[in-house]
Amino acid sequence: MDALKYEELDRLVSELDCESLRDEPLSKHTNFKIGGPAARLITVFNDRALSGILRGLAHIELPYFVLGRGSNLLVGDKGYPGVALKLEFTYGGIMQDGVTLYAGAGMSLNGACAYAKEESLTGLEFAWQIPGSVGGAVYMNAGAYGGEMKDVITRVWYMDTEGRLLDATGDELGFGYRRSAFMEGGRIITQAEFKLAPGNKEEIAAKMKELKDRRLEKQPYDMPSAGSTFKRPKTGYAAALIEQCGLKGRRVGGAQVSEKHAGFIVNTGGATCKDVLELMEIVRETVLKETGTELEPEVRVIGEN
Ligand SMILES: Cc1cc2nc3c(=O)[nH]c(=O)nc-3n(C[C@H](O)[C@H](O)[C@H](O)COP(=O)(O)OP(=O)(O)OC[C@H]3O[C@@H](n4cnc5c(N)ncnc54)[C@H](O)[C@@H]3O)c2cc1C
Repeated sequence: MDALKYEELDRLVSELDCESLRDEPLSKHTNFKIGGPAARLITVFNDRALSGILRGLAHIELPYFVLGRGSNLLVGDKGYPGVALKLEFTYGGIMQDGVTLYAGAGMSLNGACAYAKEESLTGLEFAWQIPGSVGGAVYMNAGAYGGEMKDVITRVWYMDTEGRLLDATGDELGFGYRRSAFMEGGRIITQAEFKLAPGNKEEIAAKMKELKDRRLEKQPYDMPSAGSTFKRPKTGYAAALIEQCGLKGRRVGGAQVSEKHAGFIVNTGGATCKDVLELMEIVRETVLKETGTELEPEVRVIGEN
């Protein structure tokens, strides 16, 4: 039954000029370097193809999820029993109108930051070196050093599950701490509008360098991870609570609470999704028991174990 569905999907993919990989290991597409295969990894290059694929998936009835740059994803060891959809990095491109930037969802957030700097536009410095795509950053309302996407994003274009291109502004974006309206409903972000301000290129570059240096000094950028494992609780910083409980360096299999920054779980080599989930559970239980604080995962878990 599923074989017939995938045959139909493969025909559609070739008609729409998309790229498709079969049984593609998602460990190759996640920063954690963890994750079994997706039945198909389909890369789309433009709105027309994405719309066609979404209509096809709705008709064929196959599950899908959007794979950004995989920097906040923990994928199950058995992989994802459906379609991973990826927007190619040139999808939508980048355009400027005065202090407004329009960036395609597939491009890297760093690409958008670098473009803003080159055009002497200030406002996006905080996001420099947050790994991931523009789409993933909007979805997560990514933030750092006192800034977040919601401060600069004024409009988002997206496709609904029927492949209709729509847009949303203001409250419709549902931004909160590491939260957006796109976490519900299977919608796919295709483009974002950033409202920035005129600035001084040298000052922007200096701020970006300062923030990058702070990151590299404190965070384990040299090891595979999905960034902060847990969201910041109301009562302080997750990393401080984890360290206070003596969990820095704690291991399960190849997964380890980073020695450099206790807020990160890193893959020291050969870690499985099960290792990471088990370690997350130990951390959650210990922190709850010893400090009374409940930690909520920031990492998005997808697929099967
Ligand atoms: C070393 C390191 C440091 C990090 N530092 C920070 C930080 O300072 N601040 C911070 O906020 N995060 C940080 N992160 C986490 C991560 O980089 C961000 O959450 C990033 O925005 C995720 O983008 P992505 O493209 O990699 O998304 P993915 O990890 O691929 O996906 C994340 C979620 O977004 C969804 N998604 C992705 N693209 C789309 C789209 N176009 N439409 C709809 N849904 C989509 C996915 O389905 C998934 O649910 C860090 C991660 C690492 C590894």
